[in-house]
Amino acid sequence: MKKFQGSCHCGEVSFSFQEEEITSGLRCTCSYCERRGSAVSKFILSKDDLIVNVAFSNLSLYQFDTKIAKHYFCNKCGIHPFVETLRDPGKFRVNLGCIDGIDVDKLEIDIFDGKNLL
Ligand SMILES: [Zn+2]
Repeated sequence: MKKFQGSCHCGEVSFSFQEEEITSGLRCTCSYCERRGSAVSKFILSKDDLIVNVAFSNLSLYQFDTKIAKHYFCNKCGIHPFVETLRDPGKFRVNLGCIDGIDVDKLEIDIFDGKNLL
C-alpha cells in the first residue's frame, strides 16, 4: 500500500488515503459527471480510510435525482475532491485529478454507464 495525498485547487480541502498503485480510473456518463468532466477512482474508500482535513459539514454538497450520491466540493474554489457513491452509500470515490503525482491522461480510463444506472 502506498500513501496518496490530494487537494482541491485552492488547498482549503486536502485529503489522504492508502491504496495500491493507481493505474486506472472511471469516467461516468451521468448528467452531472458529463458536465464536471473529471475521472474518478475505481477503488472506493470507507469514511475511515479517507482522511480529510476539514469536517464534511464545512464542504458544499450537491445532490440530484435520488439524492443518494453526495457530490462534495470546496466552497472556495469549486473543485470536487471526492464523491460519496450512489451504489455504496458511506463509501467514496476520489477525483483522480486532485491527487498529487497522478497524471490522469496516462491512466487507463473505463467508461461507467452512470446515465443508465438507477
Ligand atoms: Zn478549494
